[in-house]
Amino acid sequence: MSWQSFMQAQLAQRRQNSVWRQRICVEHNSGRKLQVDGQHYLNFSGNDYLGLSRHPKVIEAWQQGAAQYGTGSGGSGHVTGFSLAHQQLENTLSEWLGYPRALLFISGFAANQAVITALMSQGDRILADKLSHASILEASMLSNANLRRFTHNSPSSLEKLLAHPTEGKTLIITEGVFSMDGDCAPLIELQQLAGQHNVWLMVDDAHGIGVRGREGRGSCDVHGIKPELLIVTFGKAFGLSGAAVLCDETTADYFIQTARHLIYSTSMPPAQAVALSAALQQIRAADESREQLKQHIEYFRKNSQFRDMQLADSQMAIQPVIVGDNEISLQLSDYLRQKGLWVQAIRPPTVPPGSARLRITLSAAHYQQDIDQLLEALNGFTIK
Ligand SMILES: *Cc1c(COP(=O)(O)O)cnc(C)c1O
Repeated sequence: MSWQSFMQAQLAQRRQNSVWRQRICVEHNSGRKLQVDGQHYLNFSGNDYLGLSRHPKVIEAWQQGAAQYGTGSGGSGHVTGFSLAHQQLENTLSEWLGYPRALLFISGFAANQAVITALMSQGDRILADKLSHASILEASMLSNANLRRFTHNSPSSLEKLLAHPTEGKTLIITEGVFSMDGDCAPLIELQQLAGQHNVWLMVDDAHGIGVRGREGRGSCDVHGIKPELLIVTFGKAFGLSGAAVLCDETTADYFIQTARHLIYSTSMPPAQAVALSAALQQIRAADESREQLKQHIEYFRKNSQFRDMQLADSQMAIQPVIVGDNEISLQLSDYLRQKGLWVQAIRPPTVPPGSARLRITLSAAHYQQDIDQLLEALNGFTIK
């Protein structure tokens, strides 16, 4: 088979199954609104939960950081790419979240991959929630450890897996808030099980950090737990990008020796670290935005009366509307777009087969009338 016919066959299959993916070019994004092809839409697909991506103080910090440090970091953190700005951000993060150390990564994807592949190898065992993010599952496979997935948010399913004895190390992995469902992990039970079996727990809190907990400290703060490994990402509520791993001294030293993403990749621009420090300051003081978001969530749930589709059981900014069929999820997304509402359809393999959905995300940047507009459209939708 030639390369051309191989790829064309693959592409044709994707079109046929309604899982064709394409990128759209966003001409303008204010957080609350998007401009695409000259048209304006209310944006219900972003992860900028607190509206921070446009915060004047954060923008100013990035500009000042660039003026002070230049545009790029100039190398890996192991050479000359670890600056005062990086160090200050790591120190503030570790103090804020109550860990001895924080290590910065350029993305959550990289952080998950670095941590899992550095710690785990053949003979070890990873017990991950069934709905874990692709970056966690990819990394687990790459590590060559034995990957077992427990039933979503089910401590008893995890307990059954833990009951099997193993020679190597065991790492339990979950998310604080699940990215496609918006539900929260039973962190207390998971940490208890980890403790009873003397194994480690890793929590990826990409969607909880900034939004939940005191001063936005995230899901672990809400549940009063401290996993051995906490991953926080900056592409969501922080309104920027990047990630950090929170851990103890020994683990941080171990990652600095072994995590290939730290050694062989250029560190984030120092100016970005300056902007992240400014965003963190805003997040700590953002109780009003968190309250606003909470009210939007309650309002949306209280006033939704959908036919033929189901609102998922989520108290978070992620409010999925499950329609099941791939084609119908696309129809619904198109219908909303015609009404000036941008809501992305999410299809397998991002979500399990038969659970195609609209992934609605609410933000403190929305106004209540924005949500009214969305509700009116959704409440009026019927599957033909
Ligand atoms: C978004 C996300 C990531 C990836 O983070 P990036 O910084 O976007 O690479 C990892 N884990 C979860 C749960 C996420 O939602």
